[in-house]
Amino acid sequence: MDDLDLVQPRCPNCGTVMVDDRRGFWCEHCRYLDDHAAEFAAVVVPPDFDGPGIRGG
Ligand SMILES: [Zn+2]
Repeated sequence: MDDLDLVQPRCPNCGTVMVDDRRGFWCEHCRYLDDHAAEFAAVVVPPDFDGPGIRGG
């Protein structure tokens, strides 16, 4: 059993298990980059989301 298969995506081009990258995952075999940078940015909640005066007081 290979635990990596449970958490790591596979390359859509060659099926190699992809490795972590700061932008998502990438394939060492064919250098395909699965870019999730936009998704990671969307997860961040604005720090002043529930701040006072959001409805004008
Ligand atoms: Zn690949």
